[in-house]
Amino acid sequence: MRIDIVSLFPDMFAIVGDLGVTGRARRLGLWSMHVWNPRDYTEDVHRTVDDRPYGGGPGMVMLAEPLERALDGALAARMRQAEDAVDPTTAAGASAQGVPGSRDAVAGGKPASDTPAPSAARAGPQPGGPSAGVPVILMSPAGRRFDQAMAQDLADGPGAVFICGRYEGIDQRFIDRRVTHEVSLGDFVLSGGEIAALACIDAAVRLLPGALNDNESARQDSFNVATHGLLDSPHYTRPETYHGLDVPEVLRSGHHAHIAVWRRQQSLALTAARRPDLLEAARGEGLLSKQDEAFLRSIGHQP
Ligand code: SAM
Repeated sequence: MRIDIVSLFPDMFAIVGDLGVTGRARRLGLWSMHVWNPRDYTEDVHRTVDDRPYGGGPGMVMLAEPLERALDGALAARMRQAEDAVDPTTAAGASAQGVPGSRDAVAGGKPASDTPAPSAARAGPQPGGPSAGVPVILMSPAGRRFDQAMAQDLADGPGAVFICGRYEGIDQRFIDRRVTHEVSLGDFVLSGGEIAALACIDAAVRLLPGALNDNESARQDSFNVATHGLLDSPHYTRPETYHGLDVPEVLRSGHHAHIAVWRRQQSLALTAARRPDLLEAARGEGLLSKQDEAFLRSIGHQP
């Protein structure tokens, strides 16, 4: 999976590129990340990326053109990478070094360059053109709320280009021309799209086969299809007694069938208490067994 990000703050992406599960997965070659700074695609000495809003009002608006050029740089690099994959004799080692013109925020821990990108990368094969089937995802409070199904779709596909807004937002004409999806992290306003993009990328990368040490652990997570979209059950580790609180007896029994039943019941009870909507969805899809329904009745849950 290849992730491209258009952002004024490339350094923020070292969090997913270098650290934890996502950093390990990147080092294993399961995904790659390339960050494109619109400032590198400006023509003026001040490297201007924003201007005052038409119609007045507070704040600044991101200019369409540097964003569009940065996006073209990302799409051109993706296309070159795909061509190199088909004909490795023309690769010229580009992929090992990060793509020219991009700021691979993770290669060597440093952005490749602050200077304007080479014209080849800036032009792109089809400047201002379609995204060649690559999702161009704008992080936006007006977008569809991100969820586990969207994370799975992202993990199952070739990746995406994330566009991170700043200031009051982005000139609508860039959105109209180039954005294919708008995604929100939730009903609150962040200062920029970077934290929202980081969350989406993290959620998708941990679903890539081989990203977690034990592939089973993602399957047991909350919202996963394998657990019928319910919330995860509680977890315990040593010591057996902590400040007078014991680990539930069944988890120490070594009886795997009993442990599986206990975990399913805990998951059902927690979901019924906190997210009855998820329980209804599972019921609607016929995913609750007779035993599940009997347990839910026993704890007083009414469908
Ligand atoms: N004026 C905008 C509004 O009220 O909808 C908010 C702009 S916000 C300060 C700057 C940028 O942060 C947005 O363009 C978007 O990219 C990002 N952003 C803010 N909240 C977000 C959210 N809940 N989900 C995804 N991105 C968000």
